[in-house]
Amino acid sequence: MELIVIGSGPAYTDRRGAAAASFVVRAEGAALLLDLGQGAFPNLASTLEPSGLAAVVVTHLHPDHFVDLVPLRHYLKWEFDPPRRVRVVAPAGLTNRLDALDGHEGFAAEALDIEALSEGMLRIGPFEVEARRVAHTNESYAIRVSVAAGGSGPGASAGPGLVYSGDCGHAEDLLPLIRPGDTLLSEASFGAGPVAPGAQHITSGDAARVAAAGDAARLLLTHILSGHSRADTLAAAQSIFAGPIQLVTERDRFEV
Ligand SMILES: [Zn+2]
Repeated sequence: MELIVIGSGPAYTDRRGAAAASFVVRAEGAALLLDLGQGAFPNLASTLEPSGLAAVVVTHLHPDHFVDLVPLRHYLKWEFDPPRRVRVVAPAGLTNRLDALDGHEGFAAEALDIEALSEGMLRIGPFEVEARRVAHTNESYAIRVSVAAGGSGPGASAGPGLVYSGDCGHAEDLLPLIRPGDTLLSEASFGAGPVAPGAQHITSGDAARVAAAGDAARLLLTHILSGHSRADTLAAAQSIFAGPIQLVTERDRFEV
């Protein structure tokens, strides 16, 4: 499996060229997109042809994780004759959010096949997708993606997986998803910490603790707010997790 970083930014950033949360996972000629936050669509469209996505999985309904579904919808409707469609799996309420942005009922449905995300296993093309609820909004998920083992039914995974935290206010919520040898791609919105009172996010140290507890092979950190030192963010994680750790940036590619 290949992971391509489309957007590694959080809700706001002063990092030039950054886009909000968005990641492509590729395997066996198929591509799955995890989140599509603000500014991510150009990075996506310059990386692959978006109408060919097997699906978009949205972890939760904060704009920095879904709002560039608006340009994706326009692209699918206007770039092709006849228009094309993409499958979107997301928490309840996405259709109404997108329709409200355009002030037009039916806006999303003109190009997006939106279905409900829930806890458990989902097969999308060659991918086995596992979703677990995490503390953040009233409906937020972390996602594990792996290449499904051929013909072995739901739950069978051929190799190491990628566990993506989405946004997460309680690091231990990620543990049930992490299997030994997995890559953990985790938010660290407040860098090395502390997390602002009332914010449902974790630090790089929290992410490192669950990476170690779950015997992950590697930790990738993302979604770091401006004003937090990237060097301190990395150092805090390195003091806890002995495996390789990297702060990801747009266009980074990793073999998982
Ligand atoms: Zn969020």
